[in-house]
Amino acid sequence: METTLTILKPDCVRKQLTGAVIDKIERTGFRIVAMKKTKLTKETAGAFYAVHRERPFFGELVQFMSSGPCVPMILEKENAVEDFRKLIGATDPAEAEEGTIRKLYADSKGENIVHGSDSGDNAQIESSFFFSTEETVRVNN
Ligand code: GDP
Repeated sequence: METTLTILKPDCVRKQLTGAVIDKIERTGFRIVAMKKTKLTKETAGAFYAVHRERPFFGELVQFMSSGPCVPMILEKENAVEDFRKLIGATDPAEAEEGTIRKLYADSKGENIVHGSDSGDNAQIESSFFFSTEETVRVNN
């Protein structure tokens, strides 16, 4: 079993698509290990996306991710990281495959409904950004 970290982004919450997206995630075989609704500040959004600090879209990304509530979740499944990236599709919904979450629901490359960790190491780092291991273990045991 492997875990990955997703965030249902502010556009997902605003469009009242959290239920539809969670339904798709669960039907694909992912188990929800941790989940909460929260709101990032510009500082916490900037820290989460620190690797993109130098990119031209960083300001827009931080603005968007702190623009409203979001729903981070830890998901568990065999091959979770890779399978979840497949389920969400390409960053730009125009390039995402049919049936993927971004193709179905996203409006643009910036406002693209969901985040998904891109490696096992980042999944661990990103999960600890939102959830404590102690709490997550207690809840699931
Ligand atoms: P991901 O791993 O598919 O989420 O994509 P990246 O790691 O390349 O980018 C992280 C996030 O930055 C994306 O999910 C988008 O929300 C945002 N982003 C990426 N490219 C652009 C862009 O060209 N413009 C804007 N506004 N946001 C972008």
